[in-house]
Amino acid sequence: MEPIIKDLVEKSGTPEILNSRFLQLINSLSGIRMLSNLGSLYIEKDQLIDSMMKSIIEYLEVEEVSLYIQEEISLNCIANLNWEQFIKNESSINNKSSSYLLGEGIIGKTAKNREVMHIHNCNTVDENMVAYETNGQKVGSLICAPIIANDSILGVIELSHPNPCHFESWQEHSVVIYTDLIGLLFNNLKLMSNMRNIVDARTEELRNALEESEKLRARYEEMSVIDPLTKLYNRRYFFTEVASSLARAKRYSQSFTLLLMDLDNFKDVNDTFGHQCGDRVLISVAEILNEFTREGDTLARIGGEEFVLALPETNNEGAIKLAERIRSTIEGYELECKENTIKINISIGLSSLSDFKKDEIQEDDIQVSDILRKSDLALYYVKQNGRNGVKSFSEIP
Ligand code: GH3
Ligand code: MG
Ligand code: MG
Repeated sequence: MEPIIKDLVEKSGTPEILNSRFLQLINSLSGIRMLSNLGSLYIEKDQLIDSMMKSIIEYLEVEEVSLYIQEEISLNCIANLNWEQFIKNESSINNKSSSYLLGEGIIGKTAKNREVMHIHNCNTVDENMVAYETNGQKVGSLICAPIIANDSILGVIELSHPNPCHFESWQEHSVVIYTDLIGLLFNNLKLMSNMRNIVDARTEELRNALEESEKLRARYEEMSVIDPLTKLYNRRYFFTEVASSLARAKRYSQSFTLLLMDLDNFKDVNDTFGHQCGDRVLISVAEILNEFTREGDTLARIGGEEFVLALPETNNEGAIKLAERIRSTIEGYELECKENTIKINISIGLSSLSDFKKDEIQEDDIQVSDILRKSDLALYYVKQNGRNGVKSFSEIP
């Protein structure tokens, strides 16, 4: 500020001149205040540049202002605004598309030398030098100031006026303060954008980690042996576990029976009471089935509303009795759900090792799936004959 005051003291003669100097100084300070306020706002780059350009036109008594940004060895005009456009509140972004090489013309020289250049009278300067800046329009005087941040040049601000000797030293000094501030603002913007990039990158990492954990969860579920809804064993576990208990039964010529159970018209339960109540029925049925399961038996949910119970050391006759008890317990069961009473029935088909010929068993080619297939045929028979019943494969006519 010191040179401005010096300038003020030297040039001030009459109270009118002093008064107008004070107004210019206050104007300049207002512009600086406005610019520094921009720094506290979270705004986009174009918006920051536009506000900055407008504040220069408004407070520095300039006819036209241009902003050149350095990219490698060239300085490209990215914003330009004149008084008329300012009055019409037009945007300053990309109005003009001129560019200079570093060291070329006044813009290029300002950037190269990193010093303010004040051309008091463009008519007296080498034509080539100013011709670039005038861009075909009459320019009497101009000031170019470098924008520097963190010791590197970001670009150049050019102020111009059609009258020669228009600019005074208060404008020259003010523009230095402006460009310092602009440099800071650009730097903040860059830091902010870096920060945003970091936040974006971290967000992306987090999203990937979540995706990864979701995949792991799915994989875990895949590897899991428990059905998440009913907490019974799932299909995969059933087949591996029962394969070994069947092998044992065959080796020691023990009985072995499979119960295949399917809820009757379960689709209607979902359709009438909703999927949530359907789920609660499945959970309740699983609990009931669990109560009929002894040590050594394997109970699993092998489909939507299909359950299977493997009974080692249980012959066909004993299994039929057990199946009947299960069927009647479920028939008598009532579930309260969402102010409704739901009743459900179950159909059970069963098959035992005794349904196979002795030599078949000895050849050891009876698999769990073979017994399950016979149980399924028995179940199909029940479904075909009124449901809510029990049938052993051996009883099918
Ligand atoms: P059927 O007596 O012939 O067995 O008739 P159904 O309606 O029980 O048999 P269907 O195979 O037509 O329908 C089975 C229904 O079970 C359809 C499906 O929406 C439902 N289901 C399967 N898994 C689930 C589940 O996890 N929750 C619920 N709420 N419903 C399920
Ligand atoms: Mg069913
Ligand atoms: Mg079914």
